[in-house]
Amino acid sequence: MNITQKRIRKLAGMFLLLVLLTGMVSVPCTAAEETSEDVIIVIPDEGTDGTIDQPASFRAEAVKNGIRLSWQEVSGAQKYEIFRKICGADGGYELIKTTKKCTFNDKTAAYGVSYYYKARAVSELEKKTNKSLFCKKVRGCTYHIDPSKPMVALTFDDGPSQYTSGILDTLEKYESRATFFEVGNRINQYPDTVLRISGMGCEIGNHSYDHALLGNASASKIHSEISRTDARIKAITGEKTQLLRPPYGSIGSSLRKNAGKPMILWSIDTLDWKSRNADTVYRAVINQVKDGDIILMHDIYSSTRTAVTRIVPELKKRGYQLVTVSELAQYRNVKLTAGGRYSQMRPQND
Ligand SMILES: [Zn+2]
Repeated sequence: MNITQKRIRKLAGMFLLLVLLTGMVSVPCTAAEETSEDVIIVIPDEGTDGTIDQPASFRAEAVKNGIRLSWQEVSGAQKYEIFRKICGADGGYELIKTTKKCTFNDKTAAYGVSYYYKARAVSELEKKTNKSLFCKKVRGCTYHIDPSKPMVALTFDDGPSQYTSGILDTLEKYESRATFFEVGNRINQYPDTVLRISGMGCEIGNHSYDHALLGNASASKIHSEISRTDARIKAITGEKTQLLRPPYGSIGSSLRKNAGKPMILWSIDTLDWKSRNADTVYRAVINQVKDGDIILMHDIYSSTRTAVTRIVPELKKRGYQLVTVSELAQYRNVKLTAGGRYSQMRPQND
């Protein structure tokens, strides 16, 4: 058997393994999901020598017109190669894009189809090409939001905590998303949770570093509280936050001037911190909910986690689409501006 035959056999073996693995795992169609598999390579990989790092924090997120991929910049890379395959389909990964950027919007992803994506970094120096190993594959699928139908944004403050992953389980089960306004000094205790929130296409917002009262704080205090939190989140997800939820809902002229981000309040306050009772929290949402609401909860109570297991399916049953705050703004054509204050986004003909 010559080298080429050996290579073909090796590739065929790897390919069979991939087909078996993908066939064994049946996962519901969520916005994005990171898997632990990261070694199966079915693409001929000439030049791959691993001397350049593979892209880290690779993620897929459903956006309005397709699937958006993003990753952290690799030092020494001149470009990145993006590969795709349809989940569960025969055949290997195909190269769909070569880009110099650290993001790629896959507009050719078809509605309702799930894809696996991988990327590798490429360095070209003095006519020598080095390619990194492939990053962990991620799964992404498009979602469809009907702008004419009701939608609400569930928001969770003060986490991450031990209860956040239970809330994510419910959101994942019902193909829903939410926004998590996180406190900076808690983030390093739950890096996996933070990465999962981001990987699911949920949104992470800023809730200050140590839950500080910021309304009339000094400019330097405000900047420090916001930037330290952003730095911790970016170290994990690769992305800065776009939204601020001021602790205690405190907004003063100083914060308006110095926030540098849109300030998101709420239209339904579940008072979950007060009742610590799942039934009370459930009723607070279901008895008041209207199209365009932003709903305040806290992912630091087991009672809230339990309430969410009932709230999400009931809202879905009533025809509500559960979106992030930024998505709600996007679909309601609300332009979010730094220092602006938002507590709901009703349909425009209201
Ligand atoms: Zn808070």
